[in-house]
Parts: sequence; C-alpha cells; structure tokens
Amino acid sequence: MLAGATNKLSQSVRTALGAQLPTLQTQSEGDQTRALQAVITGGGALPYLVTDTVSTPQVEHTLSGPTARKGFAFDGKTADANEWVVKFKDGVSIPIVAPKAPTPGFHNHTVQETADALGALPKASRQLITRVLLNPVTNPQDPFWAGQYRTPNFHSYMTAGAAGVVTIYPDKASAPLPGASDMKGRVVHETGHTWAYKTWGEDKTKGKWLDWKKAMDKDRVSVSGYALADVAEDVSETLVAYVTTKGSPANDEYRKIVPNRFSMLDTEYR
Ligand SMILES: [Zn+2]
Repeated sequence: MLAGATNKLSQSVRTALGAQLPTLQTQSEGDQTRALQAVITGGGALPYLVTDTVSTPQVEHTLSGPTARKGFAFDGKTADANEWVVKFKDGVSIPIVAPKAPTPGFHNHTVQETADALGALPKASRQLITRVLLNPVTNPQDPFWAGQYRTPNFHSYMTAGAAGVVTIYPDKASAPLPGASDMKGRVVHETGHTWAYKTWGEDKTKGKWLDWKKAMDKDRVSVSGYALADVAEDVSETLVAYVTTKGSPANDEYRKIVPNRFSMLDTEYR
C-alpha cells in the first residue's frame, strides 16, 4: 500500500501516515497499533475516489445526427431533445440524448466529450450501455440523498442502472465540470454497477458476490474511501483502478495491493 511509486492510493496513504509519524512513537504500543491499523483499513488515509490519470487507449468513433426527439422524457423533466449516435470501431453503437435548450444557470458535458469518455471504456462495459442522457435538470433524488448522507448540497454527477442507461446530470454554471480523465473514471464506475448486476445478479448475498467478498477479506485493503460504502461500490471502485490504469506502472502497483480482486476481474471482466 505504501510502496507504489505512481498510483494515487499509495501517495494518499503515505501522506496520511507521514503526518502521524512524529507523534506515533510517543504513544503507547496499543495506540500505535490502532493508529496503524486505521491507516490500513480505515477510510481516513484513502483517497475518496480512485482518480488516477486514465491511460486506457481510446477506441475510435464517429458521431452521427442529430435526430430531433419531441417531448423526450429525461429524468425529472420532459423536453425537446436531439439524439446523436456514436459508433465505435469495435461495432458498439450508443445513442446520446441532449436537450435542445440547456437549463439557464446550469452546464453539462458536450456530446463530443461524452462520446470520448465512452471510447475509453473496455468493450465489456461499453456494450452494456443502451443510452446516455445529458439530463437538463439535476437529479430529482438529490434532496433525498442530501438527507441520507447529511450533505446539504449533495449533487449527483452520474448514475447508471441495471438497464444500462447512463444519466449525466448538469451542475450550476459556477461549479466546474469534472475534467476528461475524471469523467472517464466515473463512466467506468457507473457502468461497473451495470456490469456487476447483469453478470452476477442483483442478490449481493450469493454466487460471485460472495467470491468477491472473500477476495476483499484476503486483500484486506480497499482502493478508495468510497469503496468501503458497500460491496457494489467496492467492485466499481476496484474496476476504475483496474481499467483506467491498464498498461501503466500504476496498474501493476494496484495488482500488488488488491491481488485477489484483480485476479477475479481477469477472469470475470471481459
Ligand atoms: Zn457507485
């Protein structure tokens, strides 16, 4: 966990541990043990999300359209829309639907940025996406999650369900949108949920979900703080590390940190 030279998890844990070192040796042996265990298994030393720079090769695509869609049912609003189709060199085609008129005071990614982000996905994820919506309004569920997470300004960036619809929500124009690399990572995370539920089923107490939990126990550590929330988030966050660093030294580093999960992905995620 500490030794990886390039991955962001090791950097984050080194920084957290370094801050504690000056006072650690003045503490009792029990307190030292607890402090070091918290670094390994607690969320405090981990980065909140996996945000390593995406090094995945880009699959080429062409964009066609738009086709006008009158009264399209977005999430939380019906509005006239334009539908583009992005066709990838590996044969996968995905419709992208955007409102004709963006909501004043809000901004969202462009169709081109969205097509580029989809091109960084491995085919295993991309072929499960049935449609991408660039939603005109924020997630109607945001107030609910604000209460659940006790975060007053909770804002959903992106969601995806078992049906394979990816919805990207706009943010206030004053809030910067995530950059291209972070956007790709989040698409991998969200479509990772679609992939896991479609491949392993929705009951997280059986089958491959149990195998994954065993792999988690063997690996002991997780790749991000958000991965600690639930087994499905652990799968998606581990997938972000697995997919976005492919071909770079960070990928080998992550494999040493969570070897059992990576070897399960080697056989499951194709
Ligand atoms: Zn998630």
